[in-house]
Amino acid sequence: MPDPQVRTRSGGTTRVPQRALDSFSSAFRGQLLSKHTPGYDAARGIWNAMIDRKPALIARCATADDVALAVRLAGAHDLLVSVRGGGHNIAGNALCDDGLTIDLSAMKAVDVDPSARLARVGPGATLGDVDRATQASGLAVPVGINSTTGIAGLTLGGGFGWLSRSLGLSIDNLVAADVVTADGALLRATASEHPDLFWGIRGGGGNFGIVTSFEFRLHPVGPEVLSGLIVHPLDEAPRVLRFYRDFLKRTPDQFVCWCVLRKAPPLPFLAPEWHGREILALAVCYAGPIADGERIAKPLREYGKPIADVIQPHPFTAWQAVLDPLLTPGVRNYWKSHDFLEVSDGLIDLLVEHARRLPDPQTEIAIAQLGGAVSRVPADATAYAHRDAQFVMNVHGRWEDPAKDAACIGWARQLFEAAAPFATGGVYVNFLTQDEQGRVPAAYGGNYARLVALKKRYDPGNLFRVNQNIGPPA
Ligand SMILES: Cc1cc2nc3c(=O)[nH]c(=O)nc-3n(C[C@H](O)[C@H](O)[C@H](O)COP(=O)(O)OP(=O)(O)OC[C@H]3O[C@@H](n4cnc5c(N)ncnc54)[C@H](O)[C@@H]3O)c2cc1C
Repeated sequence: MPDPQVRTRSGGTTRVPQRALDSFSSAFRGQLLSKHTPGYDAARGIWNAMIDRKPALIARCATADDVALAVRLAGAHDLLVSVRGGGHNIAGNALCDDGLTIDLSAMKAVDVDPSARLARVGPGATLGDVDRATQASGLAVPVGINSTTGIAGLTLGGGFGWLSRSLGLSIDNLVAADVVTADGALLRATASEHPDLFWGIRGGGGNFGIVTSFEFRLHPVGPEVLSGLIVHPLDEAPRVLRFYRDFLKRTPDQFVCWCVLRKAPPLPFLAPEWHGREILALAVCYAGPIADGERIAKPLREYGKPIADVIQPHPFTAWQAVLDPLLTPGVRNYWKSHDFLEVSDGLIDLLVEHARRLPDPQTEIAIAQLGGAVSRVPADATAYAHRDAQFVMNVHGRWEDPAKDAACIGWARQLFEAAAPFATGGVYVNFLTQDEQGRVPAAYGGNYARLVALKKRYDPGNLFRVNQNIGPPA
């Protein structure tokens, strides 16, 4: 490998001496890739095709010791560092141009202890890896709704999905994490060991170190959950969404319903005349006894005249992957997000109006339902601050043709701005795009000052800066 020129944190470039690379390689159990190594281009591919960054070096780690070695190499030579888990982050923070990417994607092991109801999870595992391993024992931890997402980035930002109203965020079920800090030390963070670090990594992202192992508390779930979609024409959405909002005020925590406004994909259960037309889809999941779910969902299923209702028992792992075909990697994506306390009449009208002029068939407006167990944890118990949010809007600008960038980004920004008067001002850090560094303090609200102090303690040189960065601008 030729001496690579690597970008430094101070903004220049440096040539890492060959002897430093040789000494690194002799201890490193993983694979070190440069721009000339076969496999380099595949290794720098991430979910959002808008991001095209070329690290000078990719250290594909195999062990926690590898991670510590890579951190020490970066520290010794002032290298710009990014950290890659599942590579799903919309802002593309897994990669850095011309720096060192510490790639954890090969560290995928998931070890489940069914009797203790605990799982030890490697930072390269996807949500699908976690669900498959835990469901083999009839157990689960709350994670997100797309099985190819990385457990690491998702958990470090909070992590919510179909189980969160009943079982909390992913971080509410985290009992321990092993963390390589900026000085290359490997620490264990729990409620009693380095509790300040444990507080910070539960929502504060990768700002304080690199997590090399997560330990989660598991819960009995499934193996089947009552779940599926109810689909209405968009013209009915103003009425259905008002009913939906009022209906959800009376449902238990185990019942969750997200909604999506988009053009109908050619799904087999939709009549062909609906393909490509605007629809409202209600996505339901009840993580309790099927018969109870049937009874609770009945009024929602009977409301109006849906064009499809495919709610039925599904294996939990299948339901966790059901949206994957609509969220494939390699497509251009630009997201905007707000938190809401309620879905008000004004917001409903605005959503429907914008859904009538979607700029691309893949673009959608998604509303996730939160609250329940998430809201019962005090706002300062973990770094994740916005426990009060009952609904999170994610404007998924999504398209393939770069010529549509301006139209799709413009539409997403316009909806975001129009919806701002209805929003809390808070935002989920994992939904921030690459141009939203300025919203990081808003993502942490009342917890931000404590996070800045923690950053000074664990990463005073801001080694971990290619992220939604906490503290003074880099
Ligand atoms: C299609 C899709 C669906 C989604 N659905 C949900 C959902 O239902 N619920 C939800 O909560 N979120 C959801 N998200 C958001 C998701 O939580 C974030 O994109 C998250 O950052 C992905 O983590 P990753 O490991 O895949 O990403 P990466 O891009 O690899 O990493 C994200 C960030 O975390 C840092 N990081 C990664 N691993 C580590 C580590 N081990 N130690 C320290 N820092 C690390 C990275 O440096 C980067 O800054 C979704 C995202 C997508 C694209």
